[in-house]
Amino acid sequence: MSIPLEPYNLYTSDPVLRRSVEREGGGHANSILDGFGERVGSIEVSEWGFQANRHSPELVTHDRFGERVDEVRYHPSYHRLMDLSVGAGLHASHYDGLPGDGSYVARTAQMHMISQIEVGHGCPVSMTGAVLPALREQSDLAAVWEPRVRTRSYDPRLVDPAAKSGNLLGMGLTEKQGGSDVRANTSEAVAVNRGGPGGEYRLTGHKWFTSAPMCDAFLMLAQARGGISCFLVPRILPDGARNSLHLMRLKDKLGNRSNASSELEYADAAGWLVGEEGRGINVIIKMVTATRVDVTNWSASLMRQGVSQAAWHVSQREAFGDLLIDKPLMQNVLADLELETEVGTMMVMRLAGAYERAPVNEHDAVFLRLSSAVAKYWLSKRSTPVVREALECVGGNGYVEESIMPRLYREAPLNAIWEGAGNVIALDVLRALQRAPESGQAFLDELELARGADRVYDAELDQLRQLVTSPNLAERDARRLVERLAVCWGASLCLRHEPSIADAYVRSRLDGDWGTEFGTLGSHVDVDLIARRAIPNPK
Ligand SMILES: Cc1cc2nc3c(=O)[nH]c(=O)nc-3n(C[C@H](O)[C@H](O)[C@H](O)COP(=O)(O)OP(=O)(O)OC[C@H]3O[C@@H](n4cnc5c(N)ncnc54)[C@H](O)[C@@H]3O)c2cc1C
Repeated sequence: MSIPLEPYNLYTSDPVLRRSVEREGGGHANSILDGFGERVGSIEVSEWGFQANRHSPELVTHDRFGERVDEVRYHPSYHRLMDLSVGAGLHASHYDGLPGDGSYVARTAQMHMISQIEVGHGCPVSMTGAVLPALREQSDLAAVWEPRVRTRSYDPRLVDPAAKSGNLLGMGLTEKQGGSDVRANTSEAVAVNRGGPGGEYRLTGHKWFTSAPMCDAFLMLAQARGGISCFLVPRILPDGARNSLHLMRLKDKLGNRSNASSELEYADAAGWLVGEEGRGINVIIKMVTATRVDVTNWSASLMRQGVSQAAWHVSQREAFGDLLIDKPLMQNVLADLELETEVGTMMVMRLAGAYERAPVNEHDAVFLRLSSAVAKYWLSKRSTPVVREALECVGGNGYVEESIMPRLYREAPLNAIWEGAGNVIALDVLRALQRAPESGQAFLDELELARGADRVYDAELDQLRQLVTSPNLAERDARRLVERLAVCWGASLCLRHEPSIADAYVRSRLDGDWGTEFGTLGSHVDVDLIARRAIPNPK
């Protein structure tokens, strides 16, 4: 019989995360991360995660007299999770520090931990902080909203945002006719008076996916006279009246059930222009860059939780006279999963460091352009098969809701859809290489730091350099290219930072000594050693 993996400290039980945090400059927050790891690994918080997903949010469109109210009711456990994350500053604590001081890295490690326990509530937490870089394009609006966002108080009331102890912000881009191609948006914005930056407009149209619709305001794209433009659209207007944003339905989703995702319609809704008319995509991209780091992080955290649960289970479960962890074939499966998972953690924390230092470090700024797309593509793809295989390690118990594994499995595909689906991200990598070749150069420069450690790695790096600088990058080959960039980056991280798993990663992922499914590492790999790295130490 095995006992549940709870309570346990998600920070002290994850040495790869800790080493990554320290490398990227967040080590000063170790004691905070230790405390947070213990809190989110408690039985209480784990139970909130189960409850918030079992009791999905409900839409209330009208009151008893037929008046529209457009409210979403959440289970108390969801509010507790929000309170915990906002209270810990996961939405905005990094704005309190100086650029590059490690506070974003530390906050990303916190996000990595809590997302393992419950990821759905991370959506509004992530969006709220991510809105700020975009909103700062309009300083008068930012001056009003930023202080409201940066408090560490979660206030779920639908009242005047100025009267609340803290505000949440979301985004509405996707329309029925297309999400990837937001230039096809048909929502219209008409200026009240003369319009212009910071000016008031009236918006009419719809959004087909708007998550966390209880947010106090949204950044929304709509067509103004000057083209596609970005607007700040609050739910409650400065005079206390409700803006005419109507929630038509909540999506009945595969997973992510604690998070409400709505269909929104509006006629003459008030919104304020952020930046110039026609510059909406340039503005919103500042938000999307930030949310992409979190989406990538969620993929890595689902892998970490799935593989930790699997390793914990097999370290206690007996079959055919032995613990499963002592069975060579199970060791091969776990070791293979652990390789993917550790690379995921290292990639995400490297990304967090680059994002944080981008304003003050030129290499990081350029490196971020390509690496954020490569990591988003790769980890969002890897997490589904990794979680699926981890679920199988737990056997029949893994197929049952109480084990958390079904929830992780349902969450995994989402990260490959929102913030840019797979093909869109792969095409974005090509665009970066063609329009900003320095981003490819910075990426390869970083990979060069591992040169000399392995002959096969060096050869792959040489080939990639030729490929990346080739003028004929074909659209249809984009996924092949991104995969190679990702795996080579993963190998470089292992070679530089986790040498005891590097040979296994390089031989299997770069040298062809690998099968189709996990559990096919070659005979030279010390699978026993690597598999045991996956077992969390609950102390
Ligand atoms: C749970 C959930 C919550 C969401 N929350 C929000 C939200 O809060 N706000 C918001 O604005 N949106 C939200 N979305 C929408 C999400 O961002 C979009 O679904 C996503 O951007 C993809 O857009 P689409 O669904 O219109 O697919 P499409 O754009 O129609 O794409 C369909 C497929 O075609 C591929 N494709 C697209 N272009 C190309 C091309 N040129 N070449 C090859 N292949 C291509 C894509 O990769 C994808 O696989 C949410 C979605 C989900 C599932």
